[in-house]
Amino acid sequence: MRLFIAVELPASVRAAIAQSAGRLREAFPRGRFSRGENYHLTLAFLGETPEARLSDVTAAMDCCRAQPFALTVGAVGTFPGGVLWRAVDGGDDLTRLQRLLTAALCGRGFRLEQRGYKPHLTLAREAVRDPRVPLPDLPPLTCTADHMTLFRSDRIDGKLVYTPLHRTKFA
Ligand code: ATP
Ligand code: MG
Repeated sequence: MRLFIAVELPASVRAAIAQSAGRLREAFPRGRFSRGENYHLTLAFLGETPEARLSDVTAAMDCCRAQPFALTVGAVGTFPGGVLWRAVDGGDDLTRLQRLLTAALCGRGFRLEQRGYKPHLTLAREAVRDPRVPLPDLPPLTCTADHMTLFRSDRIDGKLVYTPLHRTKFA
C-alpha cells in the first residue's frame, strides 16, 4: 500500500482553499486541479509499504509529542513539473514535528527522502501558466493543526482517493 502522513485541514479551510484555487484557474488555464477534499499538508511520504509494517508506522506517529499549533496558508508557488501550491507556515512547531516524525520513522527502519522539507498544499499538477494573466491577491488563511493522519493513497477509476488509517492527536 502507498502511504503518507499528513496534517488534515478543517473542512471550512479546505473550502476556502478550493475557492482560492478557483481564482487561479485563469492564470493556470491548464492543469489537474486537486479535489478540495484531498487538500493536506504532507509531513512524511512513505510510498509503497508492506501491510505488516503498519504497526511500526502508527507506533512512530504515536511517539511524537506535539502541542496543537497554528498554520498559515500563504503565497502561491510552483515546483518544476507544474505542481501548483500554496505555501504553509507552521513555524518552529511544524519544523520540529516533521523532524520528530522523520526521526521516529527512520529509527524503525523506514527510508525517507532526505530532501529539504518545503511545507505546502498542492492545488494542481501539470499546471501551465498563462503569463499574460496576473496572479490574483489571495488572502492568507489560518487554522490549527491538532492531529496528524496516516493515509493510504489509491488511484480508483483514475480518481485519487486518500483513506485515513490512523490518527495521532497533538495534546
Ligand atoms: P499523484 O502523484 O497521483 O498526482 P499525489 O502526489 O497527491 O497524486 P501521492 O503520490 O500518493 O499522491 O502522494 C501523497 C502525498 O505525498 C502528496 O502530498 C505528495 O505531494 C507527497 N509525495 C509524493 N511523493 C513524494 C516524495 N517522493 N517525497 C515527498 N513527498 C511526496
Ligand atoms: Mg505524487
